Amino acid sequence: MATRQIVVDRGRCTGIGICESISPDRFEVADDGTLILHDDIVTDAGRSEAEAAVAGCPAIALSLQEIEE
Ligand code: SF4
Repeated sequence: MATRQIVVDRGRCTGIGICESISPDRFEVADDGTLILHDDIVTDAGRSEAEAAVAGCPAIALSLQEIEE
């Protein structure tokens, strides 16, 4: 079973917070606009929400990478 990891391109992230609105347990935008990623590991159970957050980022700052278990 593949596990995935969320990767943030901080050079692209503008701190808009769409990801936080889609997946608030995972993403948080701090007061200074810095994105805090509380959990970067995506299991099958959380996959659809994580994919929605990645797809919803207007800055294309999020991606999913498969990782070895
Ligand atoms: S939606 Fe994209 S640009 Fe906005 S805070 Fe999240 S990662 Fe950054």
